[in-house]
Amino acid sequence: MRETISRLRQSFEEDCAAVTGSEDWKAVRDKYLAREGGLVTGALKKLRELPKEERPAFGQAMNALREFVEDRLDARLQAVKAGERDRKRPFVDVTRPGVPLAPGSAHPIKRLQAEIEEIFVSMGFEVLDLPEIERDYYNFEALNMPPNHPARDAQDTFYFDDATLLRTHCSSVQVHSMETRKPPIRAISTGKVYRRDPFDATHSPMFYQVDVIVVEEGLHMGHLKGMLDVFLKRVFHPGIKMRLRPGFFPFVEPGAEVDISCIFCSGKGCAKCKQSGWIEILGAGMVHPRVLEMSGIRDPRVTGFAWGMGIDRVAILKYGVDDIRLFFDNDLRFLNQF
Ligand SMILES: [Zn+2]
Repeated sequence: MRETISRLRQSFEEDCAAVTGSEDWKAVRDKYLAREGGLVTGALKKLRELPKEERPAFGQAMNALREFVEDRLDARLQAVKAGERDRKRPFVDVTRPGVPLAPGSAHPIKRLQAEIEEIFVSMGFEVLDLPEIERDYYNFEALNMPPNHPARDAQDTFYFDDATLLRTHCSSVQVHSMETRKPPIRAISTGKVYRRDPFDATHSPMFYQVDVIVVEEGLHMGHLKGMLDVFLKRVFHPGIKMRLRPGFFPFVEPGAEVDISCIFCSGKGCAKCKQSGWIEILGAGMVHPRVLEMSGIRDPRVTGFAWGMGIDRVAILKYGVDDIRLFFDNDLRFLNQF
């Protein structure tokens, strides 16, 4: 009798261990526990055939076996279901190396902007972060361009209303810095400016500028020229030459157009410089007395100089790019060359 029970138990344990799926599991359950023909249930039915004194012991042992079988089957079913759930989940190999991502880099214009700021910081300038949405007063009026001034026509402006606009240059750094600081002042501002220009090879309605202001006692054109020379040699190359021609800007007096020796032909004359050997690069001058006065500088000994330059224009020359639109297309084949 004991032998029967232990053989039954052993064969059940082997069958149960071999179960891998729900179907196997059902087959094993039926094999041992089915009402009709189950091995355990069948053995229990034999109870009646035993002599009366053997029945309690056999009954107890068989009930224990049935409980054991039921518990084991429950546990096995949980394990089988968990295994089936895992198989349905997508397989992720956490040890597999990741897909390499190309690291990005700064846009060439942004990099040049940072390079220019760095040159000025090394010369003791502070960099002012000024608003792109500017008041008419700072963009025009305080720079000696009152309403109806003809110079306003030259700069087609995006207006929000009569008093608010998208700045057309960074020259507002002159007024902002003088209003908030006492001389000596050395400040620059760089960033986007906006004009109603067409979008073609040489124009864009949005471009980058750097504007420079220096205000202190006794400044004159010689200081301006000296600082321009240092700056342009550092931005382009140490062999660059520079010349000033008279020029008009409402906020400076006297004003100058600044040329550099052609960087393509070293001044010998080529198609890029129209055989002149010179390329126009920026506008500069001594801060107009009226601008100084409007910004609260009333000491006659204090003078200032200022200049403004297109950063995109420098990029075009420095990198030999002949279409400004390439900088805004964001085509990686172009940008990856920098
Ligand atoms: Zn040239």
